Amino acid sequence: MDVVETLSGRNADFAKNGFATDLKMLPSMRTVIVGCVDGRVDPADIFELMPGEAVVIRNVGGRINTALLETVEILQAVSNAAGKAIGEGWNLIVLHHTDCGIIPCYKHAPKLLAKHLNVTEVELDKMAITDPYEAVRLDVAALKSVAGLSSALTITGAVYDVATGKVEIIVPPSRLRDNAAD
Ligand SMILES: [Zn+2]
Repeated sequence: MDVVETLSGRNADFAKNGFATDLKMLPSMRTVIVGCVDGRVDPADIFELMPGEAVVIRNVGGRINTALLETVEILQAVSNAAGKAIGEGWNLIVLHHTDCGIIPCYKHAPKLLAKHLNVTEVELDKMAITDPYEAVRLDVAALKSVAGLSSALTITGAVYDVATGKVEIIVPPSRLRDNAAD
């Protein structure tokens, strides 16, 4: 069967059986998950998310780049407009994974990857591209110093193992920044 036909059939089933009309634009778990585009690692699947529970932002590797930060900024603006600022009680989860396509990209097209991550090729070499466990530590540390993010957010770093289906918490949940009032 044609793919679009298959998807249309599944959607008809969803609209009939899985659809809820009362979902809110802002996530009920007050959670933002940053992950990779890889089809095996969809946070909706591996955390068994229900519709409307979390905001998921995906890019190559689940790494920090300008587009990610702009997306979070827009999310904050939308949230502020709704009178529910993203801060205390919200989670920001950075989820990297094993066997990520970012590794062959780094080896075969480093220029392209550096451009995507808004860094130079020299800086790219310091981003632990081949080690998701170290990379997630680096990205959590980097996000902690992003001035535009609320200090009261809870940030967590995790790695999903595509060989076992298990998520390991690498950077346990902690307040984004301790020493600020917002
Ligand atoms: Zn990946």
